[in-house]
Order: sequence, then structure tokens, then C-alpha cells
Amino acid sequence: MIDDARSLDEAVERVAGAGVQITGRSSVSGGCIANGARLDLSNGGRLFVKRATTLPGAMFDAEARGLAALRCDDGPRVPRALAVGATGRESFILMEWIDTGRPGPGFHERFGRELARMHRSLSGDRYGFESDNFIGSTEQPNTWSDSWCGFFASQRIGFQARLARDRGRIDSRLSGSIDTIVNRMDSLLVEPDHPALLHGDLWSGNYLCDESGTPVLIDPAVYYGHPEADLAMTELFGGFPPAFYRAYRDETPLQPGYPERRDLYNLYHMLNHLNIFGGSYLGSVRSIVSRYV
Ligand code: ADP
Repeated sequence: MIDDARSLDEAVERVAGAGVQITGRSSVSGGCIANGARLDLSNGGRLFVKRATTLPGAMFDAEARGLAALRCDDGPRVPRALAVGATGRESFILMEWIDTGRPGPGFHERFGRELARMHRSLSGDRYGFESDNFIGSTEQPNTWSDSWCGFFASQRIGFQARLARDRGRIDSRLSGSIDTIVNRMDSLLVEPDHPALLHGDLWSGNYLCDESGTPVLIDPAVYYGHPEADLAMTELFGGFPPAFYRAYRDETPLQPGYPERRDLYNLYHMLNHLNIFGGSYLGSVRSIVSRYV
């Protein structure tokens, strides 16, 4: 992976070969953070680029590291990150272009099975990741920890709650209730069989179906954690089709009590939305907190 490109043209030449030029650009919608585009190349190839002027360049470094870490033989397809770089104020990430198709009848079953296999294959021995990354535009700390409950308490809920306090998004009463949850995390969550590499931001906008019907993961916020946290996020905005969950459970049975833990995992994402977008998420945060305090 090229990590020191000084312009997009230079990155394209280093990735695709000397003399290869960009002959066309078409913007791709669907992103929440950056400007995505398809690049058509003079050698007939295509690449996907995301560019941003207001984001820290570290965000694309982190994305490239996450994409590389998620690639495994029996999991979903993951695009190859090819280069990151910066030109003046603009930073960019260049990756393999994925031709998309329509999900066929077996798509979600395959996706559920492959996600379970990925969680099993990419196992670690601690919680966290080799570097911090981002969840949306918010920093996501990943300091290694031996305890899942401790990691989730301090580096997920505790971290976001502190941000929310600092930004004046939550009052002291709500903040106190969240502290109570943080302090009781050992009795609210369970330790998994082993730490698994998670996608970390698995909502419906962060997977694709490629032209051959293969599930593809994009835009991750990876860390080693409890696989339940990935599953919970898939359920946050209406859920994936039932075949996805059936196939996941057939491959890896869930630990008892998962439905009671699901919303606590999603408190992390609701707090993050509150921190990024503001007050409209306060009601969801309050309602989850009231269930666990
Ligand atoms: P953001 O970080 O801004 O949220 P995403 O990574 O989610 O951006 O990408 C935005 C959109 O671009 C996706 O919804 C998808 O449609 C498309 N996309 C992402 N990665 C690729 C790729 N490698 N090839 C083709 N299209 C892609």
C-alpha cells in the first residue's frame, strides 16, 4: 500500500503503472463523510477514490488499515486499499473499484455466514486494535485491554459520554446515569469466547453486493471486540433481512441473553450520533440509558 502519495495523479501512476492517466471521473453518492468517485483510467481500469478537505488525513490511513485487516479467505469480500495521500489541504484514499449488482435470493444468507466466519477466523488475544481510528468523524480509541467489559465501558461508552459532556450535549443527571452504567458494565455485558476483529460500523450503508452477488464490506471502524457488537449495529436502523441472522446463528450460535445486551451496544452509536449531529438523538440516548441504569 502506498502511504506517501503527494497527488492523486501520482498515486494512480504508482498503482496502475507509469503513464496511466485519469480519463474520467464520476461522483458516487451514498457517502456520509467524504466525496467518493469512480476514476476511469487510460489503461481501461477503474479505481474508487474518496477525498476530503475538512477531515484529518489520519482518517484515511485508519480506513486503509481497517480494510487490510478485515480481508480473509472465508469472510465477505473487502476492497483492496491501494494508496493514501494528501495534496495541500485535501487528503484521499484510493482503492479497488467494486462493480455492484443487485442482491439475489441467497445474498443475505451468504452475508450472514461469511460475517460469522470472518469473526471466527480473525481472532485476537486482546480487545482494541494496533491504532486508534474513527467512527464516522469521531475519534475511536483502541488501547489494548484484557477485558471486553472494561474495554467497552471505558473506551466506548465512557469515551463518548465524556465527549457529550464536554460538548454540552447531555446534562449532569444523564451523565451520572451513564457513569452508573459504565461502572456496572461487568454485570451488563458478557465476555466472548475470544476477541474477534469487528467491522465496527456495520449499518446497511457499509456493505455492497458486487456484480457476481458477493457481499462486500466497506468503510470499517475495526477493533477486536465481542461479535455481538457488530450484530447489534446491524439491528440499529431497522435490521438486515432475517436470512442474514439465521445464517449467522447457524454458523455461530449466539451467547444466551444477547437481545438484552443489544441496545447497550447501540448506546455507543447513539451517543456518537448525538455528538456528531446533536439534539435529535437525545431521546434515543435517554431511552436506552433508562433501560440499563
Ligand atoms: P463515507 O466514508 O463518506 O461514508 P463510503 O466509504 O461509505 O463513504 O462510500 C460511499 C459510497 O461509495 C458507498 O455507499 C458505495 O456506494 C460507494 N463505494 C464505496 N467503496 C467503493 C468501492 N471500493 N467501489 C465502488 N463503490 C464504492
